[in-house]
Amino acid sequence: MKKFILAVISFMSIGSCSTHTLIADKTPSSTLPKNVIMVIGDGMGPAYTSAYRYYHDNPSTKKVEETVFDRHLLGLSSTYPAAESGYVTDSAAGATALASGVKSYNGAVGVDVNKKVVQTVLEFAKTQGKKTGVVVTSRINHATPASYLSHNESRQNYNDIADSYFDEKINGHFKMDVIFGGGWKHFLRDDRNLVNEFKQSGFQFVDKYEQLDTIDPNQPVIGLFADVGLPWALDDTSSYRLSVMTKAATQHLENKQGFFLLIEGSQIDWGGHNNDIAAAMGEMDDMAKTLEYLETYVAKNPDTLVVVTADHSTGGFTVAANGIYQWAPEPLRAMKHSPNTIANRLTTENITAKSTNMLFNFDLTEQELSSLIAVKQGAQHSELEKEGAGNPYKIKNASKINKALYKTVKHLIDQRTNTGWTSSAHTAIDVPVFSFGAHSHEFIGLNDNTDIAKKIFTLLGRK
Ligand SMILES: [Zn+2]
Repeated sequence: MKKFILAVISFMSIGSCSTHTLIADKTPSSTLPKNVIMVIGDGMGPAYTSAYRYYHDNPSTKKVEETVFDRHLLGLSSTYPAAESGYVTDSAAGATALASGVKSYNGAVGVDVNKKVVQTVLEFAKTQGKKTGVVVTSRINHATPASYLSHNESRQNYNDIADSYFDEKINGHFKMDVIFGGGWKHFLRDDRNLVNEFKQSGFQFVDKYEQLDTIDPNQPVIGLFADVGLPWALDDTSSYRLSVMTKAATQHLENKQGFFLLIEGSQIDWGGHNNDIAAAMGEMDDMAKTLEYLETYVAKNPDTLVVVTADHSTGGFTVAANGIYQWAPEPLRAMKHSPNTIANRLTTENITAKSTNMLFNFDLTEQELSSLIAVKQGAQHSELEKEGAGNPYKIKNASKINKALYKTVKHLIDQRTNTGWTSSAHTAIDVPVFSFGAHSHEFIGLNDNTDIAKKIFTLLGRK
């Protein structure tokens, strides 16, 4: 029933704005959305949301069930960066465009092509008296979150960016009230302990998901849950950690003036770069769970706008490859460990039918099993030859064997599912735009990535 009501509401709002102009320009600020939630699926091109539909499908019914993405699709976004970087964006230029409405060069964090600082929607929201937050599954100073919170000529300056989160203030206030993700490595350093500095300035610090239930809503909070990025959703102690962090963030941010929250499913992109469909679908499942939570949030708080898009697509992911009319997600639905973890275990353990069936959670064919054994033996052998005869195999060579096994595990899954990849990097295809809640109809049709920021600025009250 709720789904039906949501569908009717979104149909009505589409019908009421056929001219496709920004009605925010003409409406008093009291009717602007109180809360704005921007969700970025890093690397989440259209193949990912289509594949998720089939992954998510209940095979015991003939119907292909609708996903949360299907319910809220409104348009597309182009992703190209400034001319200096051609047509294919990286995540820094992509996020800078989505955050500030300005196209820049690949690698730029919150600066334009002349390396001049550009204001972001998060910063503007703060100047309007709203609370602000960032929730990601990468390190919190990675390209996408950094492009909303920081300004740096290079995304690679991770420690500088981390420092700026503490050092840069707006009207004497920190830019963020809530920040969740990974990054101990950059916030607990020998030369600077930013966690202590934040704590001394009144922030709460948490480093376990369970602590999210007990945070004080009256104090800002920094949550770091890993050294760098969080573990893959498939391997993490909570496979729905993006959704868990999002729920805590929205509850923490609620206040009279409203809030701006950036959420990033950072690792869909990493699944794409690694050509790892199992890891990518695990990340998509966490993203879907997060959006389902936001649907319930908007149902209770209809003055909230949610905008969901990607910064680019990754990997040239193909849902059915090799000239075959089939994509078979069944093995992906069964998997409980990432291919990374499976490869790690097979590196140190004996490869047997029993161990592989446990790790994959489906039975391997004899051919699949012997290919894994052969790859491991081959990698061990070449390492022994390099080390010289008589030199016993040492664990320090495990990384070569691990790499070979990881590749083979992914290949096996690609073959079973008939998944294809054409790149280990980003592609320039347009990405889907989803939106629901207050003023969501503003995002219907083809957007440029910079339009998304421009519309959000307007909806936050910028004249
Ligand atoms: Zn990427």
